[in-house]
Amino acid sequence: MSTIRILDENTINQIAAGEVVERPSAVVKELIENALDAGATAITAEIKEGGLSLIRITDNGTGIAKEDIPAAFMRHATSKIRSAEDLFNITSLGFRGEALSSIAAVSQVELITKEPSSLNGYRYIIEGGEEKSFEEIGCPSGTTIIVRNLFYNTPARRKFLKTAATEAGYVSELMERLMVSHPEVSIRFIVNNKVKLQSSGNNNIKDILYHIYGRDISKELLYVEYTSKDVKIKGYIGKPTISRGNRGFENYFINGRYIKNYIITKAIEDAYRPFMMQHKYPFTSLYYEITPSLLDVNVHPQKLELKLNNQDSIYDITHHLIKDALSGKELIPKVSLSDDNKKNTNKTEYITKLPEPFEKNRMDRLKVLETIANELKSNDNSVSPDSPSVQIKVMEQMDLFSEDLDADKVSFISEQSLINHRIIGQVFSTYWLVEYNKELYIIDQHAAHEKVLYERIMTAAGENKHSSQLLMPPIVLTLTLKEQQTVNDNKEILSKLGYEIEHFGGNEFSLRAVPADLYNLTDKDLFLEFLDELTQEVAAHKLSPESILEKTASMACKAAVKANHSFSTDEAAALIKELLSLENPYHCPHGRPVIISISQYELEKKFKRVL
Ligand code: ADP
Ligand code: MG
Repeated sequence: MSTIRILDENTINQIAAGEVVERPSAVVKELIENALDAGATAITAEIKEGGLSLIRITDNGTGIAKEDIPAAFMRHATSKIRSAEDLFNITSLGFRGEALSSIAAVSQVELITKEPSSLNGYRYIIEGGEEKSFEEIGCPSGTTIIVRNLFYNTPARRKFLKTAATEAGYVSELMERLMVSHPEVSIRFIVNNKVKLQSSGNNNIKDILYHIYGRDISKELLYVEYTSKDVKIKGYIGKPTISRGNRGFENYFINGRYIKNYIITKAIEDAYRPFMMQHKYPFTSLYYEITPSLLDVNVHPQKLELKLNNQDSIYDITHHLIKDALSGKELIPKVSLSDDNKKNTNKTEYITKLPEPFEKNRMDRLKVLETIANELKSNDNSVSPDSPSVQIKVMEQMDLFSEDLDADKVSFISEQSLINHRIIGQVFSTYWLVEYNKELYIIDQHAAHEKVLYERIMTAAGENKHSSQLLMPPIVLTLTLKEQQTVNDNKEILSKLGYEIEHFGGNEFSLRAVPADLYNLTDKDLFLEFLDELTQEVAAHKLSPESILEKTASMACKAAVKANHSFSTDEAAALIKELLSLENPYHCPHGRPVIISISQYELEKKFKRVL
């Protein structure tokens, strides 16, 4: 008996729907892209129950001709390309002719459309891929598509969806991006009968960025522009001060499409790297116009990835554009760049060339410490003690050292040391020099501060005694819809940690209290970063009480770095005392060294007092 059969059209469409429209936001995306392709200048998107019960997209575009209506819902029916050759000159957003057939296969669709030139329009109903009615009606020019009860006939797919609120969050994020990517179109977004977002369509990118991201971000933006025959770029990039903990604000659009391209992402991040802390991502909103023949469009539409045929030049153009803008004088942070870097390389290389892994013998250790000491001393800032190779060596060395400390020396973290160490002072506004028991200890103030805050928060959280510090006046924040969602979803956790945040009206929220353990660190960036990280965790489905604590703790670290204020000797003394009473004061929570040391012996060797 034969068991192979050809699937019917509807089944094929349902399977395709799994790829093309896996959730409400994907449906909204396809429908809006169709509206944009139809030349609409005004689009309204409305959802109810996160788009599960209703999605309605209305546009003022070209409309669909009567005879094309049923065909539009057929698989591979498209008006946008006619043959494979057209693929190389594609300018529209969609061209596969899969969206409408896929959507109609898994929902109840109502289409109302009228071409501007015709007197009347048409209403077409198709449910689960089956035409239900087709009639003539009076309606305005343009197209409205209503999608009801998504996945009503494919319950297995419906099960994969998240709560209505979460799905609405995805749609919101998409709408924000669509608004940013199409400043020339007036877009309105309605959720459960309320207007959530609205853009004017006056082509003013900065207005839109202000509207969506708020004042704090829009006042820190730099305009950039580049033009050549095949590539045009314009848009805004954020000053390094508005960096974020994830790539959520690192956006660019190619020919009107929000897309990911490895080379462009890399060029952006490489250009920012010297200006930004590790694991920080910039704000960008860049608009690329690339000659279509240079794009490899034959990629899956949902994967949001695009290949470029002129990768190298796109990399160079992007990299230069951003680097040059960031190098504008007032932006250069106190990081020494160019000239000093050259001097750097030799020394750094020298260190890296040391045999690895280190033998645990005295000579090797001395060699490393000597190098480190040299570098710390060469007061020309040429080698940052933060440079990764130095850090790694110091850490390795510290591990060897702590073993030694326990064995044949009186430990720096003993009761004894707490009473008897002597603070000599601070160098380079960063390092505290401490003498104890024939050792010179060098403590990185920031790392120490991080470590101490981290331990305080972890301890307080462990003992469940977090308290809030009220902010007077409260800080007003503009949150994106996604961020608002995260706040709402995590209300309980946030308040447990000591955050008090209230809706203020519109996209504004007021931050009334912060965790007391963060003291004077009321910096709102800290809260925003925390929110970013939470949002990211939510997206990765890995939000657990532990991971939240972890996030809080790492925020504390960032707080310490940000605080960056000069400590008085008394404050430093208190900090060092607290540090030394910790179980492991040697490494900050990120693994960077907090304390390094140089023995009297090593110094003497250096001065050739001993051989
Ligand atoms: P594609 O966009 O890949 O061509 P779709 O399934 O999304 O495929 O749409 C099929 C066809 O229906 C489009 O090629 C277009 O001709 C027509 N169409 C869809 N939506 C609209 C709209 N909002 N306005 C005008 N025409 C539309
Ligand atoms: Mg389409």
